[in-house]
Amino acid sequence: MRSISIFGATGSIGEQTVDLLERAGGADSYRVVALTGGRNVTRLAEMARALRAEVAVCAEASELPELRERLAGSGIEAAAGPEAIAEAADRPADWVMSSIVGAAGLAPGFRALRHGATLALANKESLVTAGPLLMAEAARHGARILPVDSEHSAIFQALVGEDIAAVERIILTASGGALRNWPLEALAKATVKEALAHPNWAMGQRITIDSASMFNKALEVIETREFFGVAPDQVEVIIHPESLIHSMVGYRDGAVMAHMGAPDMRHSIGYALNWPDRAHLPVARLDLAQIATLTFRAPDLERYPALRLAREVMARRGLSGAAFNAAKEVALDHFLAGGIGFMQMAEVVERVLAALDGELSRDIGQMTLEDVQAMDHLARVRAGEIAGVVAGAR
Ligand code: NAD
Ligand code: MG
Repeated sequence: MRSISIFGATGSIGEQTVDLLERAGGADSYRVVALTGGRNVTRLAEMARALRAEVAVCAEASELPELRERLAGSGIEAAAGPEAIAEAADRPADWVMSSIVGAAGLAPGFRALRHGATLALANKESLVTAGPLLMAEAARHGARILPVDSEHSAIFQALVGEDIAAVERIILTASGGALRNWPLEALAKATVKEALAHPNWAMGQRITIDSASMFNKALEVIETREFFGVAPDQVEVIIHPESLIHSMVGYRDGAVMAHMGAPDMRHSIGYALNWPDRAHLPVARLDLAQIATLTFRAPDLERYPALRLAREVMARRGLSGAAFNAAKEVALDHFLAGGIGFMQMAEVVERVLAALDGELSRDIGQMTLEDVQAMDHLARVRAGEIAGVVAGAR
């Protein structure tokens, strides 16, 4: 029986992973090792019981008594805190879903690769902040990483049986997010609620805002460069409002392979779960006659400064991905809290990159996870200060 762990089980990706496991027979078909969650211990305990997990871990020590109480009599171990989450990743499992949001998802992924697990990677921040390290860790331990982000799953699928050397370009599609039809001048006044009204995908709150600002696409451009090992100028972005083509791979003979499907993350999660097989999945089938038209437009870099910043990060590499991601997370927190405006998120990130300019370059071969974590910390501090200044000047 295949053994499975899910890091971030109570989130949007985690829940959909649990849904697929349950549809495929749950605890009768898989041996579930570890499930981790954040604050929602009620749901964590419920899924741990349903899937008969060996251990359930929540992020906060203060929630541990409640988690214990909810698991009483089940024989399921309970633990709490970042170290307990990382330790849960040391427990061997054949397939590990990395779906914690943010930089907190880094450590468990690295630890799972060390015992050779197949890592289903939803946590794009791992590749953005520590891509070269993560890929090297997988290679060192003969472990495989399977992309879960829909674009990267699409690219991965469009590459099956092909030689990466024959790839000319990779074209990432972007929905454009909730504000894609707003006039540029209006964007500065966009509220959290408005930015959360995503037209196509139902996702976690943070990634939905990142979708409207295209910070999500910026992270994905970097993710593409790191995961597939292509050059930065081989990665393109196109706005495709219907979100039915999940990305494309262009080959040197001019052929473009597009991956299509309903916008449902259970497709890419299910592909990673069943790889290299394809299992029946509960996603809607496309009715192309009904859809009739697909549209595309080039992204306007004035509306989406995050895309421009991603290019800088790719040119720079080293610790700039860690700084970019951390600054983006802090800027997002400030936007969510009402401190800064929608367009000021990019302003904060740009200013953080400029402030840390002298400290971002690193020889990839010499870089360590500790360097990444230190930069993550430093960039958060700087971003907090800069967001305060930007908010004050508003
Ligand atoms: P989410 O916010 O819905 O869930 C995140 C999970 O991580 C939850 O279980 C939460 O409890 C846990 N968590 C949060 N902070 C934590 C911390 N400090 N320590 C431990 N656990 C913590 O997020 P999501 O939308 O499921 O996204 C998860 C990851 O997948 C992100 O990296 C995101 O970019 C990526 N992703 C998501 C989607 C999507 O459709 N939701 C699509 C592509 C990629
Ligand atoms: Mg995506």
